[in-house]
Amino acid sequence: MDLAYERLADRMHVVSLPLATRFRGVESREVALFPGAAGWGEWSPFLEYEPEEAARWLRAALEDADLERPALLRTTVPVNATLPAVAPSAVAGVLARYDGCRTVKVKVAERGQVLEDDVARVAEVRALLPDVRIRVDANGGWGVDEAETAVRALEHFDLEYVEQPCASVPELAELRSRLRRLAIPIAADESVRKASDPLLVARAGAADVLVVKAQPLGGVRAALAIVAEAGLPAVVSSALDSSVGLSMGAALAGALPSLPYDCGLGTGALLAADVTPSPLVPVGGSISADRVAPDPALLAAHAAAPERVAHWRERLAACLPHL
Ligand SMILES: [Mg+2]
Repeated sequence: MDLAYERLADRMHVVSLPLATRFRGVESREVALFPGAAGWGEWSPFLEYEPEEAARWLRAALEDADLERPALLRTTVPVNATLPAVAPSAVAGVLARYDGCRTVKVKVAERGQVLEDDVARVAEVRALLPDVRIRVDANGGWGVDEAETAVRALEHFDLEYVEQPCASVPELAELRSRLRRLAIPIAADESVRKASDPLLVARAGAADVLVVKAQPLGGVRAALAIVAEAGLPAVVSSALDSSVGLSMGAALAGALPSLPYDCGLGTGALLAADVTPSPLVPVGGSISADRVAPDPALLAAHAAAPERVAHWRERLAACLPHL
């Protein structure tokens, strides 16, 4: 891989894509895209990430642009709908953006909201879609007691699993032992991708399912190795990527030996615009695992402002020493 700053900066296209629904407190998503020998790679660490963390995302982007992907074992990947922490009245509108999904991931434990808000949101999903699988994602927002109370309040909606109910691995392990009788699996997300050791949560017996993302784990190959070593079922997820980044996730999901759960790769439906005229949004509940190449006109139409491009160039320079 060519890691010279000037050449990488010249290859980099920064775009700002409007979101259909406010997410993570932002209304647009900035991503950087690199063309390479094998295709296009996406580098889209969130803006607050420090260089050491963002560098892992960069390694993933450059690997995906420059190297051929591992062989696919499946050509399409079933995906879940993602429901942000919206009011019950907004639930139907968000879910209507997902075609044919049989699983809904509901965001819970949002700052500024209370458990009753989560229960009302999950109840609305269950009322609208009686047969859908429901998983909830707390993004580590609960303490152990709060999580136990919440899971007991939500369990009668028939939860597939609870994603990152608490922030730390010891808390997850404690909650998992308390919930054992409920038989609701615990999935680890932030404890995998933001940990200095992504395998710690598996070794500690603190989770039943691993949520893995290609960019934060340093690329498709690195993520495949982590899943193999952890020995737990994996759900591939995205981070509000453009269709280029989603296709990196789909490549990972397509190459996993086993894929028992629907993947969190349907988030293209949360974007109001994308870099391709055929965005990688769910059709019949699945997305394609093929590569996605951006459309030059759309790259131009959504090009980030010059001061934002300058910011991303600074980020690039700050990340290179960590590669
Ligand atoms: Mg999550």
